[in-house]
Amino acid sequence: MSRTHQGLSGEEALGTGTGAVSVGATGLSIERPALYVVATPIGNLADLSPRAVAILRGVDTILCEDTRHSRRLLEAHGITTPLQACHEHNERRSVGALVERLASGQAFALISDAGTPLISDPGYALVAAAGAVGVPVLAVPGACAFVAALSIAGLPTDRFVFEGFLPARGEARRERLRTLGEETRTLVFYEAPHRLSATLADMVGAFGGARAAVVARELTKRFESTYRGTLENLVARVDADANATRGELVIVVAGAPAAATAGAADADRLLGILLAETDRKTALRIAQALTGLGRNALYQRILDLDGAGPRGD
Ligand code: SAM
Repeated sequence: MSRTHQGLSGEEALGTGTGAVSVGATGLSIERPALYVVATPIGNLADLSPRAVAILRGVDTILCEDTRHSRRLLEAHGITTPLQACHEHNERRSVGALVERLASGQAFALISDAGTPLISDPGYALVAAAGAVGVPVLAVPGACAFVAALSIAGLPTDRFVFEGFLPARGEARRERLRTLGEETRTLVFYEAPHRLSATLADMVGAFGGARAAVVARELTKRFESTYRGTLENLVARVDADANATRGELVIVVAGAPAAATAGAADADRLLGILLAETDRKTALRIAQALTGLGRNALYQRILDLDGAGPRGD
């Protein structure tokens, strides 16, 4: 099962390697055994690379989340390879049998409903199990919604944090956002359209209304639109525009300014001093103005300070 070459692109892949089989006139060859993790479009069916098409044509089976959904994409590209469902409900149960088939010399492609498998999508258990027994797991990269959103957001991309989906329930979501209040890297989230308004409002609470953010909606699709502004303006715009809460979306938020983070390190000391002299509400207002931290984040610090010892209220 050892791999004898490092990929399928370029001349090195042609006819070399045990079990490599050429796919039509593409010059690409399929390794056996292998699990190809293939990215598919996030809306525009044309965003499927020629290499991805060749691999989807050449493997023995395509594992997908929803066979009816994926069949439409495959038909559009004239791909007739058999499909098998591998989704979050059966993945763990079916991994053993799938890995046996791989180990016996088959080649599979793993796709998801859209974009890159395993990115907020199933596939982790299968990829881990195949890798653990030495089956080559090969990436066929392509569309990914959060990368597409970051590439057009105009916010720093040298360092970023992909947070995937936030918890759906308000309290848990606010708690998660609070833990990110001092994060200086750009933050990227997936969110369901019907929660956009509530999530942006919670972000104002956790990060402050002045933070720059972008909502990238329906990327690569007919009604693609991008909303840019501070979190505070975005809340107002989203509430005023019914279209903003339709379709699929990614939220990208600037990280905390370094100065605010430095201030955060001193926030507890500052709050301690203020709370000894004045009431919570005034302490909160002064600390917010001095540190630039979000109201909710500071309020939580006050509660934490309360838990840590006697408070001057
Ligand atoms: N695996 C996918 C990827 O590579 O991006 C993500 C799958 S996740 C289940 C689906 C979420 O991705 C959507 O709820 C939305 O947040 C985001 N998304 C997918 N397609 C999108 C698009 N065309 N425009 C904006 N966001 C999109």
